[in-house]
Amino acid sequence: MATVFEMIINGDIPSTRLYEDDECIVILDINPVQKGHALVISRKCYPTFTDVPMETLSHMMEIARKVDMKQREALHAEGTNIMINNSPASGQEVPHLHIHVIPRYAGDGKTPAMSKGTYGEGEAAEYGKLLHL
Ligand code: 5GP
Repeated sequence: MATVFEMIINGDIPSTRLYEDDECIVILDINPVQKGHALVISRKCYPTFTDVPMETLSHMMEIARKVDMKQREALHAEGTNIMINNSPASGQEVPHLHIHVIPRYAGDGKTPAMSKGTYGEGEAAEYGKLLHL
């Protein structure tokens, strides 16, 4: 079944398009964290960050940076969150790769609510070994 983003790309569902090229499109998120919240979406449907070819991902990051600069210029954003939810366990709702670019303002209270913890004795070293590249 086509993802909602494939339907948007095919023009079956309306969207506010900010940009498009051969690799990706940029639209406004229908439920913005802040007004101007944009999604950089791969034209081809790669379900996750882990599936997309590196060249496409690099290109999408380049476009995400242009969106960031435009949000700073046109909306006077003081910062942005550049986010990819990667797989359902992380909160990804649409299984079609997209990068969120969210304009942010000092004290806007919109910080993604992730509760942070601490490591117990020796745990950081264990995780360090497990994750060493
Ligand atoms: P995810 O949770 O997969 O990272 O983000 C999916 C995003 O797509 C959500 O922020 C959601 O608001 C947005 N979204 C879902 N359906 C539509 C739609 O039909 N149109 C637009 N413009 N955005 C959508």
